[in-house]
Amino acid sequence: MGSTLFVIWKKNKKLIIPLLLFAAVSGVMMPLIVKCEEQVVDVILVFLEGAPVSWEIISPLLFLAGGYACTYLMPVLAELLYERLWMRLDTYFGRQRIGKMQRIQYQCTEDKEVLDLYARIEKNMDQKLGDLVRNFCDLLSAMIGVVGFFTIICSVSAVSAVIFALLFIVLLFFADRSAKNFFSLNRQFAETERRVVYLDSVENTKQYAHEKKLFGFTDYINQKRSSFLLGQRKEMRKYDYKYGLTFSMIDTAGYVCTVLLMIAMLPGVLQGRISIGLFIAASHAAANLNLSTQNKIRTVFNGLMEQRRFWKEYNDFMALPDQGGMAAEGEESGAAAAFESLEFKDVTFCYPNGTKVLEHMSFCMEKGKQYALVGENGAGKSTIVKLMLRLYEVEEGEILLNGRNIREYGQQELYRCFAAVFQDFSRYYVSVLDNIVFGKTQEPDRAQRALEEMELQERISRLPDGVNTHLGEIYEDGVNLSGGEWQRLAFARALYRDAPVILLDEPTSALDPIAENEIYNHFGRIARNKTTLFITHRLASARMADEILVLGGGRVVEKGSHDTLYGQNGLYRRMYDSQKKWYTGEGKEA
Ligand code: ADP
Ligand code: MG
Repeated sequence: MGSTLFVIWKKNKKLIIPLLLFAAVSGVMMPLIVKCEEQVVDVILVFLEGAPVSWEIISPLLFLAGGYACTYLMPVLAELLYERLWMRLDTYFGRQRIGKMQRIQYQCTEDKEVLDLYARIEKNMDQKLGDLVRNFCDLLSAMIGVVGFFTIICSVSAVSAVIFALLFIVLLFFADRSAKNFFSLNRQFAETERRVVYLDSVENTKQYAHEKKLFGFTDYINQKRSSFLLGQRKEMRKYDYKYGLTFSMIDTAGYVCTVLLMIAMLPGVLQGRISIGLFIAASHAAANLNLSTQNKIRTVFNGLMEQRRFWKEYNDFMALPDQGGMAAEGEESGAAAAFESLEFKDVTFCYPNGTKVLEHMSFCMEKGKQYALVGENGAGKSTIVKLMLRLYEVEEGEILLNGRNIREYGQQELYRCFAAVFQDFSRYYVSVLDNIVFGKTQEPDRAQRALEEMELQERISRLPDGVNTHLGEIYEDGVNLSGGEWQRLAFARALYRDAPVILLDEPTSALDPIAENEIYNHFGRIARNKTTLFITHRLASARMADEILVLGGGRVVEKGSHDTLYGQNGLYRRMYDSQKKWYTGEGKEA
C-alpha cells in the first residue's frame, strides 16, 4: 500500500496538499470554536453587567461566526477537490489495470483465481479510490481535534486530562479490534455475496427462462438466497451487539468523566479561577472528545483496513507475470505476406498444473495445403493451437514459422499469420459489418464477399438495416441470429482477415456431425488456396483434407490422406469405423 500511496501522492500533489490543509484546518477549527464559545459567553456576561459595546465584545462573536462559516464551507470545497482527484485516480488506475490484463501471461487468463481477483479489483476500485485520501484526511483532522480538546481540558484539570487520555487509548484499542473483526466478517461475506450474485444472475438471465419455469428453479433459488443472507445477517447481528455494547460503554464512561470534570471545576468557578465561559468550553471539549471523534475514528479504522486489503490484492494482480519473451515489435520480416511453412519439431508440453499433453510431437504444414488435425476429446488439439499462437511456451523442442522459431517474431507479426475460429467463438453485439471487420479498416466489399462465401448474404439482406443492423438483444432494434448463423458469421470474420493460415478449432462442435461435415467441406472449397488447419474429433469432417494428422498419446501417430490412412488399419481406421454410425442415423455421438 505504501508504494501506491507514494505514486498517488507524487502524481496529485496539487490536489492532495489543499485537501490535507483543509483537513488540518477543520481539525484545528473544532477546538477553536469551543474556545470561541468560551470567549463569547464571557463577553456576554460582561455585557450583561453593563459594559459598553466595544471591539472586545464584538470580536469573539465575529470569530465564532467566521468559524462556523468555515466549518460549513470547507467540506463543500473539499468535495470538489475529492471529485477531481477521484477522476484522475480512476483514469490512471483504470488504465493500469486494463493494460495489465492485456499484457498478462495467457495462462493467468485461464486461471479462475486470477479472474476472480480481477473481478474483485474492478468492482471495488471506484469506492476504494474515492475513500483513500479521504480516510487519511479524516484521520488527520480527528487527531488534531483530539489534541485541541485535550489542551482545553488540560488547562482546567490535568488529572481529568489524564483520565480522558486513558479513555481515548481504550477507544483506539477497541476501534482497532472492531475494524479487524469487521474486516474478517466482510471477507467471509464476500463468499456469500459471490454465491448470491451468481444466483441472482441465474434468476435474471433470459437464457434459462424455459428451464427455470419448467423445473421451478425460482423457488429453489429464492430459498438458497435467503438462507445465505440469513446466515450473514446473524453474524452481523452478533458483531453489532458485541461492539455496539463496547462502544456505548466507552461512551457512557466518557459522559461520566465529563460530569466528574464539571464537578471538579466547580470550586474553581466559585473561586473565580475558572470563568463561566471556560467551564462551558471545557465541558463541551470533554463531550466532543467522545461523541465527534469516536464515530470518525471507527470509520477511518475500518476504511484503512479495507484499503490495505484492496491495495494488497491490486499489487498482487499487478505483480502477476507478463506474457513476455516476445521479440520486439517493429522489426517486420514479412512473415504473414510470405508464409511458407509452420513446423512443430519434437515439441513436449505440459500445463503449469502438471497435465502432460504433448510428448515429442512433430508435424509440418506447408503453404497452400489443407490439413486436418484429428484426435479424441482431450487429446491436445486445442493446446496445439495455443502453442502456435504462443499463448504458452513449449518446454522442449521448437515451433518454426518459415524455418525460424516463433519466439523470434513480434506478437503482432505472428498474429497476422493466423485467422481463427474457435470452439467458443464470440458473438459480438455490434453491427453485422463490425462483426466481420472488427477493428480493421472497413472494406465493405470484401466483407460482402466473405458473407457471400459463407452463404449469409441473403439472410443479412433481409435484416432491417442490412449489414448495418445491430446484432444481439442489448439494442432496442437488435436482431438475434440463430446458432448456425452466428457460426457462419464467425467464419466470415476469419475469411475477411485474409491471413495466410486459417485455424478452425471445432467451431462447429455444437452442431451435429452431419452439419459439421457440410460446413467444413464448404469452407474447404472456398479456402482452397489457403493453408488451413481443420481441427475436429469427428473424422468424417476431415476427409477432404490433403493431409490428416492423427493425434494420439501426445504425438502425431499417423498422417496421410484419408485413403492412405484408411488403408493402414491403424488408429485412424478404428476411430473412423466406430464413428460411422454418427452419419447413418444409427447412433448418437458418444
Ligand atoms: P482437445 O482440444 O483435443 O479436446 P485440449 O488441448 O483442450 O484437448 O486439452 C488437452 C488436455 O489438457 C486435456 O486433458 C485438458 O483437460 C488439459 N487442459 C486444457 N487446458 C488446460 C489448462 N489451461 N490447464 C491445465 N490443463 C488443461
Ligand atoms: Mg479442443
